[in-house]
Amino acid sequence: MRALVYNGPKDVSVVDVPDATIEAPTDAIVRITSTNICGSDLHMYEGRTTVEQGKVLGHENMGVVEEVGAGVTRLKKGDRVSLPFNIACGHCRNCQRGSTAFCLEVNPGFAGGAYGYADMGPYDGGQAEHLRVPFADFNALRLPQGTEHELDFTMLSDILPTGWHGTRLAGMEPGDSVLVIGAGPVGLMAALSAKVQGADQVFVVDQLPDRLALAEQIGATPVDFSKGDVVDQVMELTKGVGVDRGVEAVGWQAHDHSGVEHPAGTLDTLVKAVRATGGIGVVGVFPPADPNGPDELMQEGRIAFPFGEFFTKGQTMGTGQADVKKYNRQLRDLIIADKIQPSFLVSHEMSLDDAVDGYARFDAREHGYTKIVLHP
Ligand code: NAD
Ligand code: ZN
Repeated sequence: MRALVYNGPKDVSVVDVPDATIEAPTDAIVRITSTNICGSDLHMYEGRTTVEQGKVLGHENMGVVEEVGAGVTRLKKGDRVSLPFNIACGHCRNCQRGSTAFCLEVNPGFAGGAYGYADMGPYDGGQAEHLRVPFADFNALRLPQGTEHELDFTMLSDILPTGWHGTRLAGMEPGDSVLVIGAGPVGLMAALSAKVQGADQVFVVDQLPDRLALAEQIGATPVDFSKGDVVDQVMELTKGVGVDRGVEAVGWQAHDHSGVEHPAGTLDTLVKAVRATGGIGVVGVFPPADPNGPDELMQEGRIAFPFGEFFTKGQTMGTGQADVKKYNRQLRDLIIADKIQPSFLVSHEMSLDDAVDGYARFDAREHGYTKIVLHP
């Protein structure tokens, strides 16, 4: 089958790889209809992870079941499914508690597994014609048959639940004001999620005009960090009060206007802009180490976090990968009911063969490239 593989920094290619096959009775094989390029893929693409050469990338997958193992009882050939980026066994201590992003079984020695990702287990990704889905009955979410809502449903595997998770980690309640840092796909989904849950005001920070325009399109207030200090801008917009909640949707490669990385910059901003006793949800990725990165502290996974101010303000913070299964069923039903439309950020649909070009343009944050959906 054809698949997109990682060769080295800024080097991916679409090649022939062995077909995905049933390896355990609980596996299914899914023919991929849509698979997205994610900002998380760019951390690997830029050579900032330990991902191995030859890995098939792609963790935002949906498609149609082609084959099921002998131990699969619910799913059947022909079912249209969305696949959470987390691979979870469904029966370990963490899965039982709903923390499927921290499964203890699928990636021994580590809490959490995923398709096509550095350190997340031996699983190939779905930027390919077919994907092997472990523990398929547990992991696959069934969708209505056909092709309706394809571009909305394709956001269920990661960024829509992840954006929603950011607001939950922050403890958002109806009527709260929310500051989202980052207007990439994840930040835009966090802003949309906050709106749907009844946020009063939503502010979204970035410097890319196309992304800020999308934030405005869904009713958020854009804040351009190239135009001045973000805390000052937010204080002015909130009459000096600050916001109730903050969501970090950038990660450790956050940079200033000129492109110089400041891993602690977004958290610094959030602690200052969120009011005393407010909450912060961090869904942007911060790795345990960044050995080849430019920041000395961050090379050891440390950041200069303003803990004193955080403590003094009695803030709370939640972090981590999103437990997609906590949200994807309800979000699917909100899509069907026309109450949430995440597809608004899709800028490009491409064939798998065009994915190499797609990676380069999305990585360059080229104007207009806000989310790329591949159709293998
Ligand atoms: P992206 O790279 O497309 O978007 C990041 C955005 O942040 C860009 O638009 C960039 O201009 C902006 N940005 C950079 N520095 C900034 C700063 N200092 N202040 C404000 N904005 C800044 O990525 P994405 O797909 O939106 O993903 C965002 C992060 O979320 C990544 O770290 C990704 O790995 C992570 N992620 C986490 C989960 C999870 O489960 N926790 C899931 C998916 C993605
Ligand atoms: Zn993703």
